[in-house]
Amino acid sequence: MHELGVVFYIIRDVKAVAAENKVSKVASVTIELGEVSGVIPEYLTDCWEWACKKEPLMVGATLNIETMEAVTFCEDCRQEYPTVKYAKICPHCGSENTYLLRGRDVNIKDITVMDCGQGEGDANEPSGDYNVEENDHNGLDISAPIE
Ligand SMILES: [Zn+2]
Repeated sequence: MHELGVVFYIIRDVKAVAAENKVSKVASVTIELGEVSGVIPEYLTDCWEWACKKEPLMVGATLNIETMEAVTFCEDCRQEYPTVKYAKICPHCGSENTYLLRGRDVNIKDITVMDCGQGEGDANEPSGDYNVEENDHNGLDISAPIE
């Protein structure tokens, strides 16, 4: 499954970014999906949900998919054109001497993290009672236990 490989690639990158920034929970990830990447968004979402259940960092994280237009470059007239509409033949000069400029890739565009409220004690905090509402219920239903 191509999509599963893409999901693993995304999660690996997100984990690296999260580790760098000391993030313990990811809320959502936005990706740009190239029009001719061959990845089917519906399959990608399915794989995403499955894979995220196995990663504590990723549990419950949503995946937002934005489409990136595929662009082909013509070597003869040096112009660009939309790949999906014209495929390999340049609409400007009719040449087949073309190559794909972009649109095959999957890029991570944005990562949203959840604020866990575990910041270091602030020196300016007033001493005494903290009126912090205790909430141990994270509301996540992990129906498939790991292992
Ligand atoms: Zn051309």
